[in-house]
Amino acid sequence: MTRQPAPESNLVLPPLAEGEPLLSVRNLSVVYHTKRGEVKAVQDVSFDLMQGEVLGLAGESGCGKTTVANAVLRLLRYPAEIAGGQVLFHGLDITTLSEDQLRDFRWKHMSIVFQSAMNALNPVLTVGNQIADAILAHTDMTKEQARARSVELLEIVGIDPARITSYPHQLSGGMRQRVVIAVAMALNPQLIVLDEPTTALDVVVQKQIMDEIRRLKESYNFSILFISHDLSLMVEFSDRVGIMYAGQLIEMARSQDIFRGPRHPYTQRLMDSFPTVSGPRSQLRGIPGSPPDLVTPPGGCRFHPRCDVALDGLCQQVVPVFTEYGPNHWAACHLLDAKDEVPNG
Ligand code: SF4
Repeated sequence: MTRQPAPESNLVLPPLAEGEPLLSVRNLSVVYHTKRGEVKAVQDVSFDLMQGEVLGLAGESGCGKTTVANAVLRLLRYPAEIAGGQVLFHGLDITTLSEDQLRDFRWKHMSIVFQSAMNALNPVLTVGNQIADAILAHTDMTKEQARARSVELLEIVGIDPARITSYPHQLSGGMRQRVVIAVAMALNPQLIVLDEPTTALDVVVQKQIMDEIRRLKESYNFSILFISHDLSLMVEFSDRVGIMYAGQLIEMARSQDIFRGPRHPYTQRLMDSFPTVSGPRSQLRGIPGSPPDLVTPPGGCRFHPRCDVALDGLCQQVVPVFTEYGPNHWAACHLLDAKDEVPNG
C-alpha cells in the first residue's frame, strides 16, 4: 500500500475504497530508549482492521499489545519512539501527522478507552464537564450544545443524566468506566481502542460493560481494536484475534479458529492457561519460564527458550516467517512448516 503524505492542515481523510481496511498497520516497530539499551518493544507488526470489525490483540504482560495501541493513536512519548513502519487510517499515514493534525484527528476519528477510569478522569471536574471539554476541544459547538451532547452521551452509555454534576469519586467503578466510554464516543469516531477496559472491574460489572460496548457498537457501527491479556474474554468478544509474544505478532485468525484450533505452540499454552467461559472444565496449566528481556531478545524464534516442541538448531537460529496456514489463519512457527500440525502437549 502506498504511503500518502499527511495534508498541511484541516485534516481531511481520503474516502475508503471498497474492501480497503479502515486501519492498516504495516511493519510497525517501537523501541524504548533505556540506560540498559534499546528495548525492542514492538517489532515488525502488521495487521489490518476492517470497518465494523472487532480485532483483539492478546498476550502476556509486556508482549507489546498496549504499545501497539498507543502507537496507533500516536500517544507514545519519549523514551518510546516509533522506529519504523506505517499506521494507515483511511490510507493516511498517521505517523506523518503534525501535532496540530493529530489534535484534529484524535477523538474525531479514533479514540481510546484506558484501563483505569480513575486515572483517565480528572478527579476535580464533574463528569459532565469532562465530556463537554472533549467536545469543545475538537468541535465548534457552543457550551450549551456540548452540555446537551454530554447529557445525550450519558444516556447512551446507560447513566442517569442527573449524574452530569457528579465527580468521579461519587460514581461506582462500572459507572466511571461508562463515562470514559462516553468520552471516547463523544465525537462519533470510526475506531475506538479498548485497552484492557474491564481489567479493574469485578466479573459481574465486567460482563455488563462488555455487553454495553457490544450494544453500542451494533448501534453506532464503530470498529474496535481490543487489547486484553484475557484470552477467554477476547475470543468471546472479537471477530478476529492476534496473539503477540515478545513484541511480535505470532498468530492471527478468526476468533473461533483460535479457540478451536490454535496453531502456534505459544497460543496453545496461552489457551491452556485460561478457563473457557462455556467449554468443558479442564486442568489449567501455566507457561513455564517468563518472557525474554527485549534489550537482548533471543535469536531465531523468540519463544524458543520456553517452547517444549522447539526444533533443535532451527528454532534457535532462524526467525519463523508469518505464514497463512489456513483460510485467514496466520502463524509464525517452524513446526508448522515441518509438519503443518503442532502437537498440543
Ligand atoms: Fe516453538 Fe520453534 Fe515454533 Fe518457536 S518456531 S514456537 S520455538 S516450534
